[in-house]
Amino acid sequence: MFGPIDNAAYDEHEIKFSTGKVLGITLGENYESNNLLHELMHAYRFYTEENSNAYNSSNLNGEIEAQYTQLVYKNAIKANITFPVDPQYAYRIEIAYLYMFIDEYGKLNNDVSEIELENHVTNIIKEYKSSPTYSKEKYKYDSNRTALSNFKNLRTITKNCQ
Ligand SMILES: [Zn+2]
Repeated sequence: MFGPIDNAAYDEHEIKFSTGKVLGITLGENYESNNLLHELMHAYRFYTEENSNAYNSSNLNGEIEAQYTQLVYKNAIKANITFPVDPQYAYRIEIAYLYMFIDEYGKLNNDVSEIELENHVTNIIKEYKSSPTYSKEKYKYDSNRTALSNFKNLRTITKNCQ
């Protein structure tokens, strides 16, 4: 699943919310269908959270799920999957390594424990926090949620796919 490396700007997308609803999705000029899916995961999560506080206080949980789902999709359509050379973006590689812990339906792999997934997600968070993409205000991680619960929307949207 790992292709050549790229240096492309990554964060050229945005989703806007207001009280109780998604107002719109903006995609950069190099967007592809996988970027739209990424934003749709945020939109879907917005509607599955209890309120906007719950959503905002778990943005990093949602970001990890959105990026993993994006990779699952890219893999499914046999897209070229690239990673930046810059080690500041190492979190993207760590997100790709989620494949070792959960499957494409967001379920824990048979030979893996939830503790191992928990440790890997901790690693992703650590790498994410040292990336230029990270902002303390924007990407709060809710550690009261289990690592596995971060993938509940992926499980929901793929439940009839198996
Ligand atoms: Zn995102």
